[in-house]
Amino acid sequence: MQDPTMISLEPMAFDQVKSQVKAKLLERKKELEERMKMNPDPNAIPDGTEEDLRFAERLSVGSQYERDKRALEDVDYILGKIEDGTYDGKCIGCRDLIKTDRLFASPTTERCKDCQEAFDKSRNRLCYSRR
Ligand SMILES: [Zn+2]
Repeated sequence: MQDPTMISLEPMAFDQVKSQVKAKLLERKKELEERMKMNPDPNAIPDGTEEDLRFAERLSVGSQYERDKRALEDVDYILGKIEDGTYDGKCIGCRDLIKTDRLFASPTTERCKDCQEAFDKSRNRLCYSRR
């Protein structure tokens, strides 16, 4: 099944895609850093007692800060790949080029739409199948 919009890009065109993805990642990074500054890490309590820290740990599970931190790690990971030249815009599942509109919409994605859906499905199956 060959999607005609997924024909390999010329190297020059891919450089343009890459610099656009990079610009979007940097923008995203700035946003995340700004928001993390406004919602400081609940674990970072100066002079907190052990009990305070444990409480803060519970609060931070799934907190905005934690989500932003993970998102920032993803952004840095892809930025690192762009910097060291290993970024190829290809899906880690099927090795096809990820469509550029998908990359621009979510620049940290590492899977094409089909592989992401398959991945999400298999993950959900793991979560819900209790025998
Ligand atoms: Zn794929």
